[in-house]
Amino acid sequence: MARLIDGRAAAAALRERVARGSAAWAAERGRPPHLEVVLVGEQPASLAYVASKARRAREVGQTAAVRRLPATIGTEPLVALIAELNQRTEVDGILVQLPLPVQVDTPAVLAAIDPAKDVDGFHPINAGRLAQARDPLTEELLIPCTPLGCLMLLRDTLGESGLTGRRAVVLGRSTIVGRPLAALLLAADCTVTVVHSRSHDPAGECRRAEILVAAVGRPGLVGRDWVAPGAVVLDVGINRVALPDGTSRLVGDVAFDEVAETAAAISPVPGGVGPMTVACLLHNTLLAARRRAAGGS
Ligand code: NAD
Repeated sequence: MARLIDGRAAAAALRERVARGSAAWAAERGRPPHLEVVLVGEQPASLAYVASKARRAREVGQTAAVRRLPATIGTEPLVALIAELNQRTEVDGILVQLPLPVQVDTPAVLAAIDPAKDVDGFHPINAGRLAQARDPLTEELLIPCTPLGCLMLLRDTLGESGLTGRRAVVLGRSTIVGRPLAALLLAADCTVTVVHSRSHDPAGECRRAEILVAAVGRPGLVGRDWVAPGAVVLDVGINRVALPDGTSRLVGDVAFDEVAETAAAISPVPGGVGPMTVACLLHNTLLAARRRAAGGS
């Protein structure tokens, strides 16, 4: 049976480190690191994510404010709000909760965030820095939270140098997860393949992986025949599926029970990558505060 990759425990340990760092920063600077979260509309999943991000930020001694805007808002007023937050020196991190409504130009909104305050790491400047980085963690780049959490879990599981030379397959090529994760794994000296909806033989590509990360949003897509025995498997997917009794539950992109029989290690859903995503946001908020205080852009 595979070893369980415990994202809750790893996230708790990271939050503890961030809490110590935030307290030290606050003692030095006279105020804690401050995060602004922008929420447009009333989508239940987004409301829940935003509430948990703000609560977790406060738990580690940071301050957080949530700006709630109507679902009908256009690109211009949103960009104007971001411009105002960019100007305010006491704001260290700005996060715009995605997805935005269809009438909003999402790339324009993300590009309006000051790269130094871009705690989600989605600004083209930060994406470019990651694409060119030799060692993104040492260089203290603002890296998208979910891929950063994945890298931390893989390092915990395999050891710092345990990624070197490994065949890693990233299933999914979104700008939020797949692409930045591929860049991170490449910088960690993995041999990286990115598999997507137009790939000819996704199962065959995945079977070659020593490290497999699934981020596709397809419940249980990755079955036993997609995974080589002894592989390390991270499941990024968060899918709500209906049950016959009328209730629902969260499942990942990996068929956990069957894959766990042959993999070396596997992360569960829930309790795997998800908690690391929020902990990495707090890590990025502290990092942004430190970098700005040191004059970084
Ligand atoms: P997305 O829809 O933007 O991208 C999905 C990717 O999967 C695409 O690149 C597509 O090419 C690929 N794909 C789809 N079907 C495929 C198939 N049958 N075979 C091969 N590739 C296929 O999704 P996303 O934003 O990257 O999110 C992916 C999943 O991860 C979702 O379930 C999402 O909820 C979850 N997610 C979780 C966290 C977290 O914190 N754990 C964070 C972000 C996203």
